Amino acid sequence: MEFRFTAEEESFRTEVRSFIHEEFPKARTGESFTKKLAAKGWLTMSWPKEHGGQAASHMRQLVYNEEMAYNRAPGQTMGTDRVGPTIILFGTEAQKSELLPRIVRDEIAWCQGFSEPGSGSDLASLQTRAIREGDVYVVNGQKIWTSGAQSADYMILLARTDPDAPKHRGITYFLLDMKLPGITVRPLKQMNGQQHFNEVFFEDVRVPATAVVGEVNRGWYVSTATLDFERSGIGRVIGGLKTYEEVVGYAKRTPARAPGGTLFDDGVIRHALADIGLSFAVGRLMSYRVAWMQSQGMIPNYEASMAKTFGTELHQRMARVAMGTVGMPSQLLGENAPMRGNVPFTYLNAVSLTIAAGTSEVNRNIIAQRGLGMPRG
Ligand SMILES: Cc1cc2nc3c(=O)[nH]c(=O)nc-3n(C[C@H](O)[C@H](O)[C@H](O)COP(=O)(O)OP(=O)(O)OC[C@H]3O[C@@H](n4cnc5c(N)ncnc54)[C@H](O)[C@@H]3O)c2cc1C
Repeated sequence: MEFRFTAEEESFRTEVRSFIHEEFPKARTGESFTKKLAAKGWLTMSWPKEHGGQAASHMRQLVYNEEMAYNRAPGQTMGTDRVGPTIILFGTEAQKSELLPRIVRDEIAWCQGFSEPGSGSDLASLQTRAIREGDVYVVNGQKIWTSGAQSADYMILLARTDPDAPKHRGITYFLLDMKLPGITVRPLKQMNGQQHFNEVFFEDVRVPATAVVGEVNRGWYVSTATLDFERSGIGRVIGGLKTYEEVVGYAKRTPARAPGGTLFDDGVIRHALADIGLSFAVGRLMSYRVAWMQSQGMIPNYEASMAKTFGTELHQRMARVAMGTVGMPSQLLGENAPMRGNVPFTYLNAVSLTIAAGTSEVNRNIIAQRGLGMPRG
């Protein structure tokens, strides 16, 4: 494994960093940061050139994702990191010409309609039905935990088209226009106060047959490609680093609870913070390993599960240590709270990370079976 980035990659890192410092603060005044990224071609940098990309290497994308995640800036959209690459691989010419340019220009927002109340880890058991009637499929059923459905223009939808086939072989993948009649989006409020999730209900929604991606009843295999497009997962590790650094800074300048010195002079606090700092270094290398394997043409498997599990559990450990370090004021939210309430927000938010995109238990099964060669339990 090569432990250094090339001079070109380091200079690109500097360019991305200064762009973020210049442009990201303006997003607070309503200017669209992702539209500016689109204008630079960075949103779709890894796409092939004929579809509006820059054919950037895995390592260049890693550098970009790392800088965006560290600065808590949105460097990708669902359209650019998952849907577009799926359409490039499996879509019809009409789907490519109609949708890809609009994704490249960041003109349309997407959501992912995969999970259902009874189907999450065991996604292939999904029950939403799509029945062919002439030129359309009539869709009935329900999705849940659909991030961003409240503002999405399109959904990537998995629905059962053959209930008699084995469960992985009767599912079809659709590009669903969210404006079609019969779709109801109902918000679900999270414990951190945000409203990011939704339930989505379908009642006799008539979806044109031209919205099918890939072969009918082979949508499962299209969906696994969609999920594989998530690259190194560096964001999951580095996304918490700035909060950690802020907590270390806070500990260094805040008087200790017992008289004398600062919080950082307390050996217990310092030890816990050092442990988290080391874990960030380990997690970063795990994500680099995944990107490096991809850059060498290898297909990461349990290595990606390791990076995901370690990174998201580290986020939770970091949030617990941060709450303990800040002490009683860590329960305050809002502008006047320590670190503008970012610590309790991170603590509440971190719970979901080990569930989204594959739970820790499911990932541990993958590590055990494919990484350690253990038998299926
Ligand atoms: C922040 C966030 C965003 C999300 N966004 C979306 C989205 O946009 N679109 C979408 O479709 N879905 C989304 N999801 C849903 C997510 O994909 C599911 O929550 C996830 O796949 C787990 O499914 P589940 O909630 O049904 O839990 P279940 O699968 O019911 O799991 C319940 C528990 O059982 C454990 N378990 C399940 N199977 C096994 C097994 N074989 N071995 C050991 N333990 C097991 C799990 O680890 C978990 O602890 C999102 C979830 C979160 C938290």
